[in-house]
Order: sequence, then C-alpha cells, then structure tokens
Amino acid sequence: MNVIKFNSLKSVFFLLLILTAGSTIAQNAKTESKEIFYKKPKLVVGIVVDQMRYDYLVRFYDKYGENGFKRLLTGGFNYTNAVFDYVPTYTGCGHASIFTGSGPANHGIVSNDWYDRYSRKALYCVSDSTVKPLGTTSVSGKMSPRNLFTSTIGDELKLASNFRSKVIGVALKDRGSILTAGSGADAAYWHDPYSNNMISSTYYFNELPKWVENFNKRKVADSLLSKSWTTLLPIEKYTESTPDNTPYEGLFDGEKTPTFPHNLPALKDSSSELIRQVPMGNTLTTMFAKEILKNEKLGKGNETDLLAISYTSTDYVGHMFGINAIELQDTYLRLDIEIADLLKSLDEYVGKDNYTLFLSADHAAANNPVFSSDNNLKGGIISMKPIIDSLKGYLNNIYGTADYIMNTNSQNIYLDRVLIEKKNINLRDIQERCARFVIGFEGVATAVTASDLLSGTHRSGMYELIQNGFNQKRSSDVIIQLQSGWLSWSTKTGTSHGSGYRYDTHVPLLFYGKNIPQGKGHNQVSIMDIAPTICTLLNIEFPSGSVGKPLVEVLK
Ligand code: ZN
Ligand code: ZN
Repeated sequence: MNVIKFNSLKSVFFLLLILTAGSTIAQNAKTESKEIFYKKPKLVVGIVVDQMRYDYLVRFYDKYGENGFKRLLTGGFNYTNAVFDYVPTYTGCGHASIFTGSGPANHGIVSNDWYDRYSRKALYCVSDSTVKPLGTTSVSGKMSPRNLFTSTIGDELKLASNFRSKVIGVALKDRGSILTAGSGADAAYWHDPYSNNMISSTYYFNELPKWVENFNKRKVADSLLSKSWTTLLPIEKYTESTPDNTPYEGLFDGEKTPTFPHNLPALKDSSSELIRQVPMGNTLTTMFAKEILKNEKLGKGNETDLLAISYTSTDYVGHMFGINAIELQDTYLRLDIEIADLLKSLDEYVGKDNYTLFLSADHAAANNPVFSSDNNLKGGIISMKPIIDSLKGYLNNIYGTADYIMNTNSQNIYLDRVLIEKKNINLRDIQERCARFVIGFEGVATAVTASDLLSGTHRSGMYELIQNGFNQKRSSDVIIQLQSGWLSWSTKTGTSHGSGYRYDTHVPLLFYGKNIPQGKGHNQVSIMDIAPTICTLLNIEFPSGSVGKPLVEVLK
C-alpha cells in the first residue's frame, strides 16, 4: 500500500515536472521565434574600391588614420584571403560578381567589352542604344544594366520589400555604378568626362532629380582640380613605395616627369578624364554619395535601403603609376580619409548601429612587368598582333583563304562560326588548332577551347577559374591565359590586371556595422560569397544566379 502511495506521488511529481519543463520549452520557443530572423539594418552600404589589392591594407596600415580603414579592420570582420575565383578579372565582371553572388558564367558580364557573335559587333558591358543620356548629350549617358543576366542584392531587396526599398549606385565609371545597383535600381549615377557632370540615363527615369542638377551646377570637379596634387604626408615618409621618379610610372599628358607636385590646373585642359586619374575623383564620389543619402533619405524609411559606392580613381592611378608608386600610396592615404568621412556621415545621418557595410574590390593588379624583370621576378610584355597575324596565315594554309577570325584580344579568339559551318569545318577541330598554335608563343600559359569548357571537364586550378568565367552565349572560341607576371600592355609604364593569378584575384573583404561581429578569417572565401552573406543578414532571397555561400563567421 505504502509502495503504491509512494509511486502515485512520484507520478504526480513527474507529471508536474514534465508540465513545468513543457511550459519552459514553449516559452523559449516563443522567445526564439521572435529572434529567429536578423533585425534588419536601415541601410546596406556596399563599397567597391576599383583595383584595390588586399596588401594595401597591410602595407599602408601604419600610415592610415584611426577612423577609416582601421575603424573597419578593428571594429568589423576582416577576411584576409578573399579571392576572385574566375577569369577575367576586369571591372565590369568584378562589380557584377560582387552584387550578384555569381561569376560571368551566370551573370553574363564576361569582360568590360566583348564581341557579340549574334550582332557581329563589339559590345561594351553597359552600353544600351535604346536609352537616352541625362545630364549630358554625350554617348557616355547611353548606358544601362540591360546586358546583366541575373539579379543583384538590390533587386532582391526590392522584391522582398514590395519595391519599398530604395537602391542607388554611384561611381565615376558607368559600369562601377550600373552593375552594382542592378536592374531594378531606383538610380545609378556616373561621371561624364565631357561635361564633368554626374549623369544617368532614361533607363531609370525621364529626367535627373533636381538635387543632381543642382549638384552639377556647383562644378565640384572643376574646383577639386583647382589646386596641385601634393603628397598628404611629407614625401620622405612614403617608405612603403619606390622613389618619386622611376621609369615604371606613366605621365599625365603635358608632364615631363612622374613627380610631385602634379600641377592639376595646368593639366586640366589636356585630359577630359583628369578628375578620374587623381585622388580628388574619390572626393567627388564621396560628396555625391552624401548627397544621395540626404536627398533620397536613404536609411530613413521602414525598409532596408542599399547604397552601392565604387571608388574609381584608385584604378586610374594604379594603371598610370603602377602598384609601387608614391602616387598610388598617396591615393590610398587620401581614400582612407574619404572612408572616414563617409562613416562619419553614416553615423550622423543613419545612426551608428543602423547600417551594415562591406568593402571589397573588383579585382587587384599586377606588378609592372618591366619592374618585375628588372628585379629577376617573372614578368614580360606580350604583343598579340604578330601572333594573331601568323595564326591567320596558318588557318588559311589548312582551310583555304578566308577570314576565320572575327575578333581577338589578349585573352580571346572569336571565330566566325557562320563561315566555319558554311565551309563544313569541324568547330572543335579549328578551335583546337588555334589553341595549339598560340600556346607555342612565349608569354602564353594556357589556351582552352570553348568546346572543352562546354564538356565541363575543367574543375581545378587555373582551368576552374576559366570555367567559372565562361559563358556559353558570350565567351570566345579560344580562351588564353598569359604567363604569371605577363601583360599585353601597350606601354612599359604603370600596370594592369585581368588574369587568374593571385596578384589579380586577392582583394580585401571587410564587413562592418549592424549584426557584424569583430574578428578575422583566414580561410579562402570567394567574392561570390558576399551577396549570399548580405542577403542572409537581410532575411531575403539570394540573387537569382548566386553560387556563393553565406559566410558563417559573420553570421553569428
Ligand atoms: Zn576595375
Ligand atoms: Zn583597371
């Protein structure tokens, strides 16, 4: 009897225990369901620094101020090993890839320019003959994202918010602005070298907003060029760079030596693009970005807005002076001040914990090839014209005289497939002959055919990068990679980019702000991971062609 009594008491006790535990679980579930999604920021700011190598963060670190790059590095998350995992590494594809989470294989921006085999014409990545320029009468306004195949972060934000989110892009380069903002953007603004105005096209609206017209009336570019470009610090402090006058640096039209001070008022008339070629172009960009914030009230609505900013002048300075010049270092020290200024404005206008920001680059850059070979490092300059001329002769000997080659550059050979079909020539056969021919020349590392890439056999190393950059509709018949350090470059000064080597693919990737933990990651990540990561933080769908993975270290 006693035993039974004890047992029934025990049952009651356990029943109570289960009920209490059950209600605790239910309570927890209730709390968790509230916090299951990220609290969205008011604004996402995506910054692309055109041609920024990762090592600029390290090389110039001691010379940066506390509130620019250092604030992002110490207060945010730094991926030390973020790479572009496709070729070619150019501006158009770089910007598109960051904001679509995919490579040229999916988003279709296979380069800055490519040969369109359907219209049999060369095509620029953002050109659009159907739109009209706004803010200029020049062709630099006939641009839109029409050639972009897949959606961007901004497009997905628009869809998720029932089109209440605002999405705007700005850069001096059209492609840096248009391809970051995406197809559904409210606006993209870029710089017109002919009028020195910030412009747009009728793709977005029928006339420029009044505030943009007012900004253009201020002639900001002219006043930024009214003083000489001198070094920010005393010139002897630039110990991370080569001396001021080296044979590896290019010259502004009208200058005799590549040395400070650069007399911008005197140079202004000889180059309509001067504002892009000097760090003051980045100042113009920041000023315009701040105007966008204020006039479009970004981060002030109930939905998350997106501001995409691409700093263009870093690329022009890199091309002109190379990656070791004082001009290059000075441009980054000045950009650091721009970043600090932008962050301050975001703090004041949107609020310190109301925005999430990322910073990366559209590609990095090589050493000047002459500098490399002078220092016993790998590097050379290749001229493609004689190679293509002898290839034409070789094809004529085999298949009979005809124009088999429609278009070429240092990385591509486009064949006339209509002619090849008409002449009953096997396409794979002629592609393979071209590849075997060009591989024999010094400076060429690989030559891969479109037929091979379509069979999908290339899954590792440089071949994987070529595969990721290959788009069946738009890519060429033979894809060429030069040897490490080599450039197809018309001058011996400055530098370029475009390859799949680390010096072109390794870029910064910093996350900062709302929902971003402080830390660093050394694992290799892809720039195609940026869009899925940001979309996860915003609780929205990934862009349509996205192949990247959300970066779990920043999703804590
Ligand atoms: Zn670029
Ligand atoms: Zn470039």
